[in-house]
Amino acid sequence: TSHRHKPDAKRWDHRLTPETLNRGGSSLKAAAAYLKTPGLISLGGGLPSSEYFPFHEIDVKVPLLGHCAQGEEGSEVLRAGMHDMAEGKSAFDIATAAQYGQGHGAAQFLRWIVEHTEIVHNPPYQDWSCTMTVGSTCAWDFALRMLCQPGDWILSEQYTFPAAVETAAPLGVKVAGVAMDENGMLASSLDHVLTNWDEKVRGGPKPFVLYTVPTGQNPTGSTQPIERRREIYGVCQKHDLYIFEDEPYYFLQMQPYKGPDASPIPPPASHEEFLNSIVPSFLSIDVDGRVMRSDSFSKVIAPGSRVGWITASEQMCDRFRTHADVCTQGPSGFSQLILFKLVDEIWGHSGYLDWLIHMRLEYTRRRNVMMESCERYLPKDIISWVPPMAGMFHWIQVDYTQHPKWIDGSVTMDELEEEIFQTIIRHGTLLMKGSWFCAERTKPRNTMFFRATYAAAKFDQIDEAIFRLGSAIRDSFGLRK
Ligand code: PMP
Ligand code: PLP
Repeated sequence: TSHRHKPDAKRWDHRLTPETLNRGGSSLKAAAAYLKTPGLISLGGGLPSSEYFPFHEIDVKVPLLGHCAQGEEGSEVLRAGMHDMAEGKSAFDIATAAQYGQGHGAAQFLRWIVEHTEIVHNPPYQDWSCTMTVGSTCAWDFALRMLCQPGDWILSEQYTFPAAVETAAPLGVKVAGVAMDENGMLASSLDHVLTNWDEKVRGGPKPFVLYTVPTGQNPTGSTQPIERRREIYGVCQKHDLYIFEDEPYYFLQMQPYKGPDASPIPPPASHEEFLNSIVPSFLSIDVDGRVMRSDSFSKVIAPGSRVGWITASEQMCDRFRTHADVCTQGPSGFSQLILFKLVDEIWGHSGYLDWLIHMRLEYTRRRNVMMESCERYLPKDIISWVPPMAGMFHWIQVDYTQHPKWIDGSVTMDELEEEIFQTIIRHGTLLMKGSWFCAERTKPRNTMFFRATYAAAKFDQIDEAIFRLGSAIRDSFGLRK
């Protein structure tokens, strides 16, 4: 196949924890292999009979793709029956989906996932593999248990997704922040932190795991361009790091933002143009097999579906799956069935790419509404920002040094941030405080930010919320209205 001339992944035995090395997998699940024996009557697995599954048919109304693109209503029905597979009607059915399965997910859906991964990332080593997850939150927990032990440190962007830190903390794993600019994590800072790591000062060994959100980063909205990704990958090779690439926003890469009055930029004319327009992933440049990429349907289909997957070397996928076998047992069968029917039987790879282009255009419109409102209402001598290229977040910087209370020295940074936060709420808008996202929460800061999302509110509400934000800032800083 197409992998033939690619190198094999590096082995990670020197990094794996006793927890993951001690996982032998599920002995009962291993017995499923014998079910292929012709004529065998199974009195083995404790599988309830599908006769007793009180769901005989599932109908789900889904949008008609062609209509979405035109902004019109329109739907079709996705139907799953109990024995569609035996009856030759479908590659998946209720009897199978509602039954016990394997930790890596249903084989038919996993095949679609592997094909999609090959189309989008085409990893440059031979023995890559995918295994399903119940989303990136859980995938990160699994990865931490595979790689880290109490007392270890990992690395992340200096502002990061709080749940990533909160997953690590109770495992005794601390996070060292890497400085960022508008293009995300700085390779030079990553190298600096590692080169100057002092075990005595930090109280732990030099880290070897990098957690990064390269695209539409939460909370900063920054996206690492490919040159930055290559530089970071080079530093990871130099220090032998393992990279966890958490990419829930990968397909929320938007059309370029050209300012409030710019004429609209034509959408990608073909799938090829679309795929060429998005920044290549770490996975796609991972010649060593040092990346575990986590994809999730949460942001492009629905968070409650709780379905995602990781892509990594066979060795790492195998360790991951042996955990899933005795923990999540893979994502919910109902979720898998409905998603599979949608992305494989109704859409196919091509239709899924059409959906992703649709999402790109929708998020572009939302982002543009927020940027235009910010241009209109925010005092630019105090507030500054870089329009995001991807994701759902707008990272708003406040020049706190102009605040009267900062000038007279009556408040700390945290107190002032809280006061501005409360003023914004009094004016009727909720933003998230930047300090909630600090990887190292006790480290002094010299910048103040608030995070806004354009993902959910109606357009007129986004506009109103930003108008209120402008009034709140003027109020707090004692500027004339
Ligand atoms: N506990 C016991 C004693 C069981 O027999 C089983 C199913 N074989 C389970 C737990 C697994 O339950 P679940 O499907 O809810 O994970
Ligand atoms: N990772 C990041 C960076 C996120 O921002 C989020 C969602 O807020 C998640 C992971 C959660 O993803 P999932 O729903 O797949 O667990």
